[in-house]
Amino acid sequence: MPTVKYQRGDTVMGRWPGSSLYYEVKVLRFDAKSQLYTVIYKDGTELELKEQDIKSAAGFQTRSRSRSRSRSPGRRRSRSRSPARTTRRSSSRTAAVVAAAAITDSVPPSRRDTKLKDTLEVRLSPLVISVMCDFLPPGAYFWLLFLPAWVLFLVLQVNLEDPSLTNFPPPLPPLEALLDVQAFGFVILWILFQAVLYILPVGKLSEGMPLRSGERLKYRTNGFFAIVVSAVAVAAAVYQGVDLTYIHSHFLQLAVASFLISVLLSVYLYVRSRYTSPEQLALGGNSGNVVYDFFKGRELNPRIKDFDLKFFCEMRPGLIGWCLINFAMALAEMKKQGLDAPSNPMILVNLFQLLYVVDGLWNEEAILTTMDLMHDGFGFMLAFGDLVWVPFTYTMQSYYLVSHPNPLSLPALTAIVILKLVGFYIFRKSNSEKNAFRRNPSDPKLSYLKTIPTATGKSLLVSGWWGVVRHPNYLGDLIMALAWSLPCGFSHLLPWYYMIYFIILLVHRDSRDMSECRRKYGSAWDEYCRTVRYRIIPRVY
Ligand code: NDP
Repeated sequence: MPTVKYQRGDTVMGRWPGSSLYYEVKVLRFDAKSQLYTVIYKDGTELELKEQDIKSAAGFQTRSRSRSRSRSPGRRRSRSRSPARTTRRSSSRTAAVVAAAAITDSVPPSRRDTKLKDTLEVRLSPLVISVMCDFLPPGAYFWLLFLPAWVLFLVLQVNLEDPSLTNFPPPLPPLEALLDVQAFGFVILWILFQAVLYILPVGKLSEGMPLRSGERLKYRTNGFFAIVVSAVAVAAAVYQGVDLTYIHSHFLQLAVASFLISVLLSVYLYVRSRYTSPEQLALGGNSGNVVYDFFKGRELNPRIKDFDLKFFCEMRPGLIGWCLINFAMALAEMKKQGLDAPSNPMILVNLFQLLYVVDGLWNEEAILTTMDLMHDGFGFMLAFGDLVWVPFTYTMQSYYLVSHPNPLSLPALTAIVILKLVGFYIFRKSNSEKNAFRRNPSDPKLSYLKTIPTATGKSLLVSGWWGVVRHPNYLGDLIMALAWSLPCGFSHLLPWYYMIYFIILLVHRDSRDMSECRRKYGSAWDEYCRTVRYRIIPRVY
C-alpha cells in the first residue's frame, strides 16, 4: 500500500494553483482515489492539491507577509490596473489573493485559460458537496414521482369552472384520453423545427466556460433568430387557417406527450452516459445510485456531433414553446369568450412573458455561465424542467384567463405595467452588471464599482446593484412574477402558483448560493455579507 506523505493536521506549504507562490496550509485529508490532499489556507479557503504542489514547511524559504505583499508584481499590477478595486481592506486578502490576481491580470490570454481552468477546478469540490447535501438519493425518488403528478394536477385543476384549491381535483381521465398520437407528433415536430433552427449556420458561435479538461465548447447562440423565425412561421400558419386553439383543447395531451419525450430523452441520456469517459461526467451526478443519477444527470455536455442537447433543451423548445402556448391561449380566450381581441389581462400576460423570453434569448450567451450549464449533468431533472415544467406550468396564468376573465381598470393596468417595467429594469441591469464584471473585471465602464478581492482571484462587487442586496437579480425577477399574476386578480390561488413557487425557489436558491459562496470565498464572503446585509429585499429579507 503506498504511503501518504503528509498527514492530517500537518502544517505544510501549499502552492497556489496556477502560480509559483507557496503559502502555509494545514492538511485536512487525503483522498487515495484522486490522490489529492484537501488543505485549508489561513483565511479558510479549502483547496485540493497534488502532492507535488506541497512542500514541507521545515526549511522552506518564507518571506515576511508584508515583504511578500509589497514585492509581488501580481499585486502591484492588480492594484494599479484594476479600476474596479475597492479601497477597503479585506481580511481575506492573503498572499493567495495576490497570486490569483496575478493569474488574471498578468498572464497572456492564451495562458489565462489554463490558469482559469486551474482556478475553476479547485472550486468544484465544495460546490458538489453542497449539491449532494442539498439533494440526496431519497429526494430523487420523491421528486421523480411528485413533479409529473404536480403538473398533471395543475393542468387538470385550472380547467375547472371553480379552480379553487379547496375543491377536490377532477378524476384522472382514462389512459387513452391522456395518450394522443397526434399531440405526440406535434410535440416531436415542434422540437425538430427548433432543432433545425438551432443548427442553421446563423448567429454567433460562443465559447462556454473551460471544462475540467481545459477545453472550451462552442455553442451556436442564435436563440433570438430562432424565436423570430418561429413567430413568422406561427403567423403564417394562422394566416393559412391552422387552428392554434388545439393547444388549449389538447393541453393535457400535449403535456403528457412532452413528459413521455422527456422520459425517453432521459433514458437515452442515462444509457449513453454509461459509455462516456469519466472526465465528461458531471461531478454531482455520478453517485452510483441509478435512480439518483438518472434524475440528476450524469453527462455534463452530451452532444451529438456539435449538437449540444442540454443547451438546446434549456433554451429552445420549452422556452419558445411557452410563448407559443400563451399566444394560443389568447386565441382560445377570444373563441371561448366571443371577443374580437384578447382581453387586457391576457395581452399583459402575453407581452410580459414574451419580453422575459426574448430577453433571455437575446442574452443567450449568459446561460453559458449558469450552474445548469457549468455543473449540472443532463438528466431527467433538466429534461423534464425544460420540456414540461416551463412550457406547461409557466403558462398557468394565460391558461387560467381563457376561462376566468378578470376585467382590469385603467389605473390597475397602468400600475401593473409600471411594476413589470421596474422589475425588468432591476433584473436586466443587475444581471448585466455582474455578467460584464465576471467577463472582464477590468472593464473601464465598471471602474466606478467597489469590489472586495477574494482568495480565488475573483472579486466581489459591493456597490452598484450588488451593493443594494445580495441578489438584486432575484428581486427584479420576483417583482416581474408579481406583475404576471396580478392581471389574473385575486379570486383564485392557482394563477398565483408561479409567484409562490418562485419565492420558494429563489429563497432556496439564494441560501444554496450563499453557502456555496461562503465555501468558495471564505472570509471575503463574510465581509461582503456584513457590508450588504439583506439578501433579496432591502430592509426586509
Ligand atoms: P446568479 O446570477 O445570482 O449568480 C450567483 C453567482 O453570482 C454566485 O454564485 C457568484 O458566482 C456570483 N456572485 C454573487 N455575488 C456576487 C457579487 N457581489 N459580485 C460578483 N459576483 C457575485 O444566479 P442564478 O443562476 O441563480 O440566477 C440568474 C438569473 O436567473 C436570476 O436573474 C434569476 O432570477 C434567474 N432565474 C430564473 C429562474 C426561472 O425559473 N425563471 C430560475 C432560476 C434563476 P461566482 O462568484 O462564481 O461568479
